[in-house]
Amino acid sequence: MQTYDVVIIGAGLAGLQCAKLLSRGGAKILLVDRKTDLTKGIHTTGIFVRKTLEDFDFPAGTLGKPVRNVTLYSPKLKSINLTSERDEFCVGKIALLYGSFLKDCLENGVEFSNGTHYVSAKVSGQKSETILKLEKNGKSFEVRTKALVGADGTNSRVAKDLKLDENREWIVGYEEVFHSNVFTSEPRLYCFLDAELAPGYLAWIADDGEEIHIGVGGYAASFNPREALKKFKVKVAEKIIDLSNAELAETRGGRIPVSGVLRSIANENGLLIGDAAGAVSPLTAGGLDPCLRLSAMAASVITERLQTDNPKILLNYSGELFRARFVSRLWMRRIIAMVSNQKLLELGFGFLRGKIGRKFASHVFFGRGSFPDVEIKINAKSNSLNASLLKN
Ligand SMILES: Cc1cc2nc3c(=O)[nH]c(=O)nc-3n(C[C@H](O)[C@H](O)[C@H](O)COP(=O)(O)OP(=O)(O)OC[C@H]3O[C@@H](n4cnc5c(N)ncnc54)[C@H](O)[C@@H]3O)c2cc1C
Repeated sequence: MQTYDVVIIGAGLAGLQCAKLLSRGGAKILLVDRKTDLTKGIHTTGIFVRKTLEDFDFPAGTLGKPVRNVTLYSPKLKSINLTSERDEFCVGKIALLYGSFLKDCLENGVEFSNGTHYVSAKVSGQKSETILKLEKNGKSFEVRTKALVGADGTNSRVAKDLKLDENREWIVGYEEVFHSNVFTSEPRLYCFLDAELAPGYLAWIADDGEEIHIGVGGYAASFNPREALKKFKVKVAEKIIDLSNAELAETRGGRIPVSGVLRSIANENGLLIGDAAGAVSPLTAGGLDPCLRLSAMAASVITERLQTDNPKILLNYSGELFRARFVSRLWMRRIIAMVSNQKLLELGFGFLRGKIGRKFASHVFFGRGSFPDVEIKINAKSNSLNASLLKN
């Protein structure tokens, strides 16, 4: 049986970032994904916010043109235009980004097993090691690891097997991606409040001149995303965006956890990152920035666990650290979830058009508030680690 320091299940942004950072420290890592090709079946629009763009380096060619303009629409299509003096968003070219992260991992010695399903995990009893059952091409095999990382998305099987918290509340998003080469206006993000087409979230058009993403999101129990997208395109999107020269390239969709970072996200055998950890803003449903930041924290804690050979170090990686930061966003999520009436939404939109409302909307779209950073202090004498949040 092969033995690895770390096995990471899931090569989305969270898993790739964690593998990339850990591999630089020389750990023996296995990265596993059931996909044979990471560039297929992508399930994110890929909008990165300013804070992420400022704090992280992106490989050349992996970002679209910067977006400074947002138009917000009411159910009756009344609108508010918000413009920033700074570049606020970029739509990532996700397939290229994943490819570049993976290349970096492979160059630093990460073993990547694609087309491989994670089946189960059991604790071996020796030094908190875990034995995993994986399956590739219909054949199952086992590997052993000191740290199992669940980067396997909202419906994480690793979370279940490690007996950690699991996501219980999510919305679903579904979009079509068009490639376009005729572009006349400024890159813009259009957001639509609509209790029927996007119950509990938004419908959107992100147009940076190269890619046009048209999508809807909301609570699965209250709508059919595919039907809603069809209606949204006919009723609204095609009146705002000219798709006559655009070509449908792919569809993307998936669940987005919205109940905030889960409390129990680590034990002595492993930990969770990304959507598996619920690391998504409950208000904006943005999960890419949290993928990068939480995976960086996970990589630091795992490195320390490997260097000290002390599995208890992993217990410092706790969701409790983050929950207080998300209290107001969780309350706003509850309020949004309750608004199932178009008239009420129209009324709320009236507030957004006022002075205070505009300020609030600008703060939500342009504020530098994303996932908190964590400072990690290591006490070499006591072999312990202390993690605390930094102010944004
Ligand atoms: C439609 C949509 C649009 C979105 N748009 C944005 C946006 O514009 N900006 C933003 O910030 N956030 C956005 N989000 C949220 C964001 O995309 C996610 O939070 C983020 O991509 C999560 O990354 P991840 O690596 O945790 O999970 P994932 O990207 O889900 O990766 C999980 C990986 O695990 C693999 N896997 C799962 N189970 C197994 C198994 N048993 N065995 C092997 N492999 C397995 C999967 O194949 C997958 O590759 C969006 C989400 C959706 C659904």
